[in-house]
Amino acid sequence: MSAISCDMVVVGAGIAGFSAAVRAAEMGAAVVLLDKSAGPLGDGNTLMTSGSFRAGGRNPRSQPSELYQSVMAEGVAYPDLVKGWAENCGHAVEWLVHCGVTLSEPTPGRIWLEPGSAICFAPVYKKDVGTRALAALKARFEQFGGRYRNNLKAVRLIHEHNHICGVIALKGNEIVEFRGASTILSTGGFSANKEMVRRYIGKNADQCKLRGSKRCTGDGLRMALEVGAKAVNLQYFYGHLPSRKALTDDRFWPYPRLDSFVDEGMLVDRNGNRFVDEGRGDVAVANELARSTDVTGATLIFNHATWEGAKDAAQDSNSKTPAPNPWLSDNDGALYCHKSIAGLAEAIGINSENLAATLGQYNRALQSNTSGLLAVPRTGKARPLRAPFYGLRVVPGITFTMGGVLVNGRCQF
Ligand SMILES: Cc1cc2nc3c(=O)[nH]c(=O)nc-3n(C[C@H](O)[C@H](O)[C@H](O)COP(=O)(O)OP(=O)(O)OC[C@H]3O[C@@H](n4cnc5c(N)ncnc54)[C@H](O)[C@@H]3O)c2cc1C
Repeated sequence: MSAISCDMVVVGAGIAGFSAAVRAAEMGAAVVLLDKSAGPLGDGNTLMTSGSFRAGGRNPRSQPSELYQSVMAEGVAYPDLVKGWAENCGHAVEWLVHCGVTLSEPTPGRIWLEPGSAICFAPVYKKDVGTRALAALKARFEQFGGRYRNNLKAVRLIHEHNHICGVIALKGNEIVEFRGASTILSTGGFSANKEMVRRYIGKNADQCKLRGSKRCTGDGLRMALEVGAKAVNLQYFYGHLPSRKALTDDRFWPYPRLDSFVDEGMLVDRNGNRFVDEGRGDVAVANELARSTDVTGATLIFNHATWEGAKDAAQDSNSKTPAPNPWLSDNDGALYCHKSIAGLAEAIGINSENLAATLGQYNRALQSNTSGLLAVPRTGKARPLRAPFYGLRVVPGITFTMGGVLVNGRCQF
């Protein structure tokens, strides 16, 4: 066994770990940053990001009080942590720029990591959005004497006299002990850990598509729980509804996203029945479907106007993500179209009487402004669906898990 001493050990080299490591090195600490991947810049979700900079869905340069109130209004957040976060969002953006991370702001308040080339269909992580940001942070880290060590998998926190004194890591079979006054866990979420996904999200949720890095296996969460940390909000994830083809064909994830199909369409189960309020948006709908008994059995029904509206704009900007139309139809994306709802049901293999009845009730309720009274209410901006009808089998895609170790405003547990 070998042992390394430093002031701070950071575990996980995504944007969270690099940011913590660089800032501590700037302040004069001797920092070691570990990553279990062989990559020079980790191998987490940061390398797959589209680079949109939002703070709770808002401009991160918004007033801290506005950020605080909007996140607290969701009803699940912790005041101390949200306060610390809200007060630092704007500073963090300026600090990243100071570190050499290049951002663009094509419209006021919409900040993006500057891509070097257009975002494309899978594998989008080969593109250079997050990669360029991490490369800039790594250069600054090394400039301040930071040490980056890859192929080192942290497995256990060193817990002595009621203090965390570092971490035990494995380099192949070799045990390496890293000791430091502070230890930062920034290993991403647990989206790639099927057992944790089943335990915390839903008992069939391991059938969801992993729409992110395979490295996010919940190691930090597990290590923290082992030393007595408390975890919260583990049931929520951020994700979307990709075509079900994404389960077997990597070209169908992480893009295109089908948000507008959810906003304007109707989601039914294998029997042709609605089971969720589509008006809550595709992230909430993906969460609900992931918790259902038939995770892979849902179909989105929408009409021609929605399909036409989902085309790539001619003047695409680099940061824009790819659109569904015509990608899905050009690439056998499990998209069906029929002039009658019975014909569509038959093509997809859904009970046609049920589907026709569901559609009838849905359209009547929308026409009479009573969609809130449906057995499964329909909120949002839906309109009655008219022929020709489109159907697309979908699956929840987990981009990253939301909850984690309960920390205070200084990220301590
Ligand atoms: C397709 C896609 C698009 C996205 N688009 C956006 C977007 O537009 N805007 C946005 O804000 N977010 C977006 N995200 C989410 C965003 O990328 C992540 O939230 C963010 O990058 C997470 O950073 P992180 O540092 O926490 O984790 P990660 O970048 O996942 O890094 C975790 C690191 O920890 C390492 N690690 C794990 N376990 C261990 C261990 N035991 N020992 C050592 N190392 C370990 C991994 O190898 C990895 O390098 C997107 C994500 C995906 C997948």
